[in-house]
Amino acid sequence: MINIGVLALQGDFHEHTKVLQSIGVSSRLVKLPRDLAGLDGLIIPGGESTTIGKLAEDYDLIEPLRQFGQQHAIWGTCAGAIFLSKDVKRDQPLLRLMDIEVQRNAFGRQVDSFEIDLQVPFLENGESQPYHAVFIRAPMIKSVYGKAEILLKLPDGAIVAAKQGRLLATSFHPELTEDDRFHRYFVELTQS
Ligand code: GLN
Repeated sequence: MINIGVLALQGDFHEHTKVLQSIGVSSRLVKLPRDLAGLDGLIIPGGESTTIGKLAEDYDLIEPLRQFGQQHAIWGTCAGAIFLSKDVKRDQPLLRLMDIEVQRNAFGRQVDSFEIDLQVPFLENGESQPYHAVFIRAPMIKSVYGKAEILLKLPDGAIVAAKQGRLLATSFHPELTEDDRFHRYFVELTQS
């Protein structure tokens, strides 16, 4: 039976557990290093990346999370994507697992939040059924290098999803919509 952890230091972790439950996947909230034992994958939710990073330091989670990510799938949504990255051009605790540079709050004040339909061919029925992506004070993936690859761009070229092996970063929030295809895609990734 697949068991997915959701990092529960700060942010919208409950929304992720609800989606996992709705697709019949069991989950566990992760607050301490020992909570990672036996998990098939981990989701790092949206929230405030500085707070998540500082709390991860306080709970001695940085090294255990890095080690977990070297062997298992991790998906970071929004603040979680920032936390997974190698570089944000600011001084804050990062896991530095993915070869991506991320710019926080990259879409500016006027468009703090926006929603857009995207073509996401790698999702189930992705060619015919658009994916409705929700962005909230979202980061942009400025560069993808090394072992990371671009998964998804906005029509204007901004990179909003990247993958590196079983590590996945999305600028947007699939846990805030009814569409569970991204969660199912991640569950598959944990088994790849
Ligand atoms: N703006 C937040 C940050 O920089 C991320 C926002 C979110 O996760 N919705 O950490």
